[in-house]
Amino acid sequence: LGTALVFGLTEFLGGLAQYQGIIFGVILLAVVATVPDGFMGARWWRRFTTARAGIRPSPARAASGGGEAPGPPLSDQRAEDVSKETAALAGRRSLPAGPGADTLRAGPGAGTLRAEGLRRSFGGVIAVDGLDFVVRPGIVHALIGPNGSGKTTALNLLSGFYRLEAGRVFIGERRIDGRGPATVARAGIARTFQTPKLMLGASLLDNVVIAAQAVERSTDVASVLRAPSGRRAARRARERAAQALDFVGLGESRETLASEVSHGTERLVEVARAVALAPRFVLLDEPAAGLSPAEIGALASVVRALAGAGIGVLVIEHNLPLVLEMADEVTVLDHGRCIARGDPESVAADPEVVRVYVGVPGDAGDASGRVSP
Ligand code: ADP
Ligand code: MG
Repeated sequence: LGTALVFGLTEFLGGLAQYQGIIFGVILLAVVATVPDGFMGARWWRRFTTARAGIRPSPARAASGGGEAPGPPLSDQRAEDVSKETAALAGRRSLPAGPGADTLRAGPGAGTLRAEGLRRSFGGVIAVDGLDFVVRPGIVHALIGPNGSGKTTALNLLSGFYRLEAGRVFIGERRIDGRGPATVARAGIARTFQTPKLMLGASLLDNVVIAAQAVERSTDVASVLRAPSGRRAARRARERAAQALDFVGLGESRETLASEVSHGTERLVEVARAVALAPRFVLLDEPAAGLSPAEIGALASVVRALAGAGIGVLVIEHNLPLVLEMADEVTVLDHGRCIARGDPESVAADPEVVRVYVGVPGDAGDASGRVSP
């Protein structure tokens, strides 16, 4: 459009040609002031495309819980309330219904996500030191441990964000390490970040569409030219993204800007973005950090629903009552090594775990910088 304008105007300027620079300058300023994101970012254009995609704009921004401050850490009593709430929610939540809901389910024969001998150091610090574990489809596997014990590093190694110094990662029989994050994502591993990474200037829906587009693909030429196949793929991507937002309970807030929502909502949007990738495995890095009790309840039920859909979930979590609530299996890290593994109850009772993670009873506290319960 810009090129047409420039060349067209040059033709028509006639006697005004000597003022060409001024005229173009004024047009440029007008464009920057009125449509700074370009025509495709203009509100009327977005409304037009949203209407064509058959997506109903959000009726209420308030439903996002925007502006809500992240809650304080849980006390024992509140944690108990949360777990009751979680249990109630988990009982109610079901997979999104309607056409295409099946595409959110894990494909058959997903195999397991298996890590063998993972190792990574930074300078003199060995962050992850010979770690093995398995995430099974339909199972919530929690990774816990003190601060700095290597949990995030392990997740970054699995998802291809960090290069392995030693070890191997498999999905089923397929080796996936050393391929980079995009390949790992396409192999069916979706992740969230310890600090949510959203496009703040975009709507919640657009944040999730980014992931949905990786699944609902058309050729680049078709999407740029808005050929029918490109438009169909774009519509399916928006539907898939809307479904993923419904799945985490944010369907009503899809048009809200990411910059306007609470921290807890940001984390749920990240989960929705992971879900939109139709993953076989989802890796969550401290998804409950900074959430209010109600948001933690919603999150826990989403995590259980993911597992219920056959997805293998690896979740890094500090909050022990929540781990006991959500997890089927727990791996405890200390200094990059696994010090205990098993079902949540037996791990919580393990004396070694109590020593490094909870702190010895009567111990002066956490001068070591470790997390206490
Ligand atoms: P956790 O998530 O369990 O709190 P991390 O995996 O973030 O622990 O960190 C484990 C150790 O590795 C820490 O000592 C940390 O300082 C170090 N580490 C992690 N990432 C990096 C990095 N990118 N550069 C240097 N050191 C790092
Ligand atoms: Mg971490």
